[in-house]
Amino acid sequence: MERQTNKGKVLGILVLILLLCSAGLYFLVADRQQPQIRLGPEAEHLNGEATLEIRVSDSSSGVARVTVSVVQGEEERTLLEVEPDGSPNRWSESIPVGEMDLEDGPFRLVVRARDNSWGRFLQGRQARAERGHVLDTIPPRVKLESFRHNMQRSGSAIVAFRVEEDPERVGVSVGETFFPAYKQKSGAFLGLFSYPYHLSAGQEQPMILAGDRAGNVREVSIPSNVRAKRLSDNRIRISDSFLKRKMPAFRDAFPDIRDNVDLFVAVNEKMRRANRKQIRRIGRDTASRPLWSGRFLRQKGAKQSSFAVHRDYYYQSEKISQSMHLGIDLASMARAKVPAANSGRVVFVDWLGIYGQAVIIDHGLGLQSLYGHLSQTDVRKGQRVDKGEILGRTGATGLAGGDHLHFEMMISGFPVTPVEWWDQSWIENNILPKLQKVREAETD
Ligand SMILES: [Zn+2]
Repeated sequence: MERQTNKGKVLGILVLILLLCSAGLYFLVADRQQPQIRLGPEAEHLNGEATLEIRVSDSSSGVARVTVSVVQGEEERTLLEVEPDGSPNRWSESIPVGEMDLEDGPFRLVVRARDNSWGRFLQGRQARAERGHVLDTIPPRVKLESFRHNMQRSGSAIVAFRVEEDPERVGVSVGETFFPAYKQKSGAFLGLFSYPYHLSAGQEQPMILAGDRAGNVREVSIPSNVRAKRLSDNRIRISDSFLKRKMPAFRDAFPDIRDNVDLFVAVNEKMRRANRKQIRRIGRDTASRPLWSGRFLRQKGAKQSSFAVHRDYYYQSEKISQSMHLGIDLASMARAKVPAANSGRVVFVDWLGIYGQAVIIDHGLGLQSLYGHLSQTDVRKGQRVDKGEILGRTGATGLAGGDHLHFEMMISGFPVTPVEWWDQSWIENNILPKLQKVREAETD
């Protein structure tokens, strides 16, 4: 009997040792990392062109099996079930949304993956990931509320319209130039835009662009009639005395350029471009409703240069540079008072490269006015100003030959001819009826 018990004990110990060894082996070999699943894109709203990206990785034992399914409403459908050859460490797949047979609306992508490890009683370790999206394949619907837009090259117009869904990006595009539109209390949008001076009449069709969060874009032609306008040219002689007088102020902007003519070219071209970019950026700092009323004031003084004059610069009978003059130059006496052309909010008071000391007033809906070459400024950024309020005094700062005001009007930072905005009847015929239409809807 004693022998039998001993035998049993030995057997028991052997079984125990075997169990411990296999457990040890299991912990030694088994992969404790579950597969990693990454899903893209991160955007919630997707349009019909989107592609879903699925990436599964398992660095220790490899990807053994992936199941991809989609849930919409109550229904879950399996899109894909694969056992990748040789259990690779990385596996990925792209599935175009258009091939998933989905309806517009919310859906969820669910991915399950298993690795090739001994985990989970040799079944492999499992991972699951999901991401919710909203499929939206229809661009926002746009309904025009203004139907006649007579304009001239370099001139302004305003369009009123409604958009059915809340757009992410909305405005008017003419060729490469985009003018944002602004939502009003009534829900309608107002878009001030220009037929850009650098395009010939009929070259581009003004369009309303309305894009939604999913990236669908609706384009609607704006019924418009654009009159041609000839722009003039001007030849400007750059003298040594001008260079000696003006260039020192620009030396620190281009410290490597010693020669005055080279410095003039750099200021006239590089600095001018940078200044225009800055003006475009400032153009986004605007009120979503009009802050102006009535016509814009034209400052006193004789017109020295018109809007959109192409200038060629000559030094000792050699053409050295060119530019486009994008404002109107007005000269009266030196250090003349400069009144605000209309009411608004000061959005810029500082040095602005070729424009010297400058003030920019926002009048709302992207409409702004710029006052350049000032010798003195009397307002601060953020300040509300009334029509006629004194902003400062004229001067010859920046790239000005003599004391004058460079007056410019912009829509979303893009220069337009100020002449129309000085004209009460032009405003009454072209701008006010469309503003009133939107305002009437507000009181409904
Ligand atoms: Zn000017």
